[in-house]
Amino acid sequence: MPYDTLVEIIRQSGVTDPRLLAAIAATPRDRFVPARSVPRAQFDEPIPIGHGQPTSQPSLVAEMIDALLLSGPETVLEIGTGYGYQTALLARLARQVYSVERHADLAEHARANLAAAGVTNAEVVVGDGSAGLPGRAPFDAVIVSAAAAEVPAPLAEQLAEGGRLVMPIAAGVADIVTLFAKRRGRLERRRSLTPAQFVPLVGRNGTPL
Ligand code: SAH
Repeated sequence: MPYDTLVEIIRQSGVTDPRLLAAIAATPRDRFVPARSVPRAQFDEPIPIGHGQPTSQPSLVAEMIDALLLSGPETVLEIGTGYGYQTALLARLARQVYSVERHADLAEHARANLAAAGVTNAEVVVGDGSAGLPGRAPFDAVIVSAAAAEVPAPLAEQLAEGGRLVMPIAAGVADIVTLFAKRRGRLERRRSLTPAQFVPLVGRNGTPL
């Protein structure tokens, strides 16, 4: 299996959920990177996808998804589709995924990549993800792949009661990937997962252009 090494690296990074490890083994990352980067797709490293944006390294993607504790029936909102790799993993682990990407050409790549990989339960929407996707709310889980100083209010509002949200929170030199949960109508901070470097969440409720 071409992704055995990647799965092993992710397992050693602390991910134990068998469904998530199986999703990584079954999702060909080479279909979710630009053609010139296909030889690097099996490595645990970020890959540039244009517009100065990198896809996150797979072990970080896995750690963030792991924190959502998806069991199958969830509706998930993803902000920052990129080339759709994380979208494809989420689609294997949940019932329906909605993913918002601000760059139309990246969204188009992601749609084509997802279709080629046989993913039918993920919808990619072009727009400002800092506003969420009110027409499809509520979401059982929200995952944000770009950093801001705080969780945009619309994302907290659109999260279902009991739902989980993972997002990098900008904190000076690094971003701190943080897990939140919604209890009694309020977003509560749960724990820090890891420091990392993300691109800014550019938008009305994120970082102004
Ligand atoms: N989840 C992707 C990450 C791509 S990088 C992956 O695993 O590969 C982050 C993405 O967030 C970029 O594609 C960038 O264009 C997008 N982005 C940044 N701000 C955004 C916003 N306000 N709304 C939607 N997408 C945004």
